[in-house]
Amino acid sequence: MDKSVIVAIDGPAGSGKSTITKIVAEKLKLLYIDTGAMYRAITLAVIQHNLKTSDTVSVIKLAKNSTIGLKRIKGGSLQVILNNKDVTEDIRTQDVNARVSDIAKIGEIRKIMVSQQRQLGKNGGVVLEGRDIGTVVFPDAKFKFFLDATVSERAKRRFLEVKDKYNVTYEEIEQSVKNRDKIDSERDIGPLKKADDAISIDTTNMKIEEVVNTILNYISK
Ligand code: C5P
Repeated sequence: MDKSVIVAIDGPAGSGKSTITKIVAEKLKLLYIDTGAMYRAITLAVIQHNLKTSDTVSVIKLAKNSTIGLKRIKGGSLQVILNNKDVTEDIRTQDVNARVSDIAKIGEIRKIMVSQQRQLGKNGGVVLEGRDIGTVVFPDAKFKFFLDATVSERAKRRFLEVKDKYNVTYEEIEQSVKNRDKIDSERDIGPLKKADDAISIDTTNMKIEEVVNTILNYISK
């Protein structure tokens, strides 16, 4: 395996990206970078500072003054650090879900995030997951995949993940997934979009191992 390789895995919420990317990175012994966690961390900072999403000047200033770290922990998962504090759990709340896409559509915020992501991946040896990795962050990535699944399947997966942690209904989760899909795909800069040269995988009826193996087969070819 070429140690300078870059693998881009994009797709909407609940398409299986995080689970799959983590396993692929483990198997290939590459660094795993969850770019969604970075947008979530900035959103959490915005909430903690009681800023309105529409106050873009303050939001951008806050993002410039915040440091986000991703640290690999046991089992291949990532610990997310915001200004030296562990926020791994705090970035997954419904509050963050409800606001992250509006923060992520601010052009200047994307500039800051994309530049940090390029810095993290510049030496290669990375698997990045997100929405715009294959189109904007690393358009020359050697391998690009676009994972997708039906809305109901994606909402079902999200619901199963969070139902014991938060007091939410399936309908609320489905609505939140749909809202994020809409904002993420309709924004002007770095929208959620399959790169022309990405390999599409519909994960609706696939098991995790099947998706992982499909990706690993492409890479080893
Ligand atoms: O991947 P995850 O669902 O955690 O991403 C949270 C949000 O972050 C997305 O809904 C999207 O608004 C934003 N995001 C983005 N670009 C990326 C990764 C995530 O805009 N590369």
